[in-house]
Amino acid sequence: MTGNSLDHHLQRYAQRTSSMKASAIRALFSVANRPEVVSLAGGMPFLQSLPLEALAADTAAMIAEQGLVAFQYGSGQGILELREQICEVMALEGIRAHPDDVVVTVGSQMALDLTTRIFIDPGDVILAEAPSYVGALTTFASYQADVVHVASDENGLVPSALVVAIEACRAAKRRIKMLYVIPNYHNPAGTTLSAERRPIIAQICRDADITLLEDNPYGLLGFDDTVHRAIRADDADNVVYLGSFSKTFAPGLRVGWVLAPHAVREKLVMANESATLNPPVFNQMLISMYLAKYDWQSQIKAYQVTYAERRDAMLGALETMMPAGTTWTVPTGGFYVWVTLPEGFDTAAMLPRAVSARVAYVPGTAFYADGFGSRQMRLSYCFPTADRIVEGVRRLAGVVNGELEV
Ligand code: PMP
Repeated sequence: MTGNSLDHHLQRYAQRTSSMKASAIRALFSVANRPEVVSLAGGMPFLQSLPLEALAADTAAMIAEQGLVAFQYGSGQGILELREQICEVMALEGIRAHPDDVVVTVGSQMALDLTTRIFIDPGDVILAEAPSYVGALTTFASYQADVVHVASDENGLVPSALVVAIEACRAAKRRIKMLYVIPNYHNPAGTTLSAERRPIIAQICRDADITLLEDNPYGLLGFDDTVHRAIRADDADNVVYLGSFSKTFAPGLRVGWVLAPHAVREKLVMANESATLNPPVFNQMLISMYLAKYDWQSQIKAYQVTYAERRDAMLGALETMMPAGTTWTVPTGGFYVWVTLPEGFDTAAMLPRAVSARVAYVPGTAFYADGFGSRQMRLSYCFPTADRIVEGVRRLAGVVNGELEV
């Protein structure tokens, strides 16, 4: 392609593409994926304990018996049997829902996209925790939303800060459409919203006429046998709830869902149809068969045990190896620890040195829409073994200590 025709394309791009930038971090991650690098960067579930051989046999049988349905186009809302099973999964978190109000999506990432698509006009404000999930922030930016961060602490989003943020936006005549919250085992913060705060936050949103978007892919991955009650369980009218099989089963199948108030559900189905016609029938049937035939709750238990062991390895290593003045969150489930280095550190600038030392993480600025987070980083413990995690933290501590000496 000549330079000239590239310029033409650039001029033709829609404004919404201006937030889509190739990231230097992504380029580094191709190096970080080499086997000699301990990657504490990715959020990849550890799938080794899945019963692959049994699944292969059952999937073959499914194709033989129901292939003509599995390989055909399907409903834009998702197959009914799976939506019924999704309601049973959500019941574990106290949610009573009708399958008619569930829309199956291509991962909960697509659910984020569709929800943003139907609610957000350019310039609308979306309130989000500080920090927040990078994939949601990029989706919000692609619809030209303005993200306003709200302070969160070790118990999640701070209700009084939410009130202040709403008042400030209102004073500036900005239109707030949504509050985006990850209540359990937050990505990247590793924190859980306390039970006391949940109804308070829901009430603030209702009073302010703001939709609460509850994103809960990690809810069943607690390490202490507690399942936290969903915000949606006590607020069916104002909460749009997102769920996913990515962390509890298999992310490669790309199946998630939205549970929405009935009226909103109709628009979501239309948006789903215009984006994908329908979510993949084959993948939905595979998951439905898995939920019906396998002891999926024991499988989740196996994941919990593995992740708890790895979390302990990471926290122990941080405790013994990181320099004084470094702090971190203590997750009670999920995949992530959020680390804050002492004043003066820049984790984005430090990343190439860390990768040279064969360890990778995600710099904190990725999780803010406004450039904050430069002293912070997300470490994930879901994929490497405990030994590798300890080795990774050793390498990381070496890099951090090296910076201190300069
Ligand atoms: N929300 C959060 C908070 C996540 O961490 C992720 C995955 N990293 C997603 C949504 C998207 O997950 P998926 O599309 O695989 O369901």
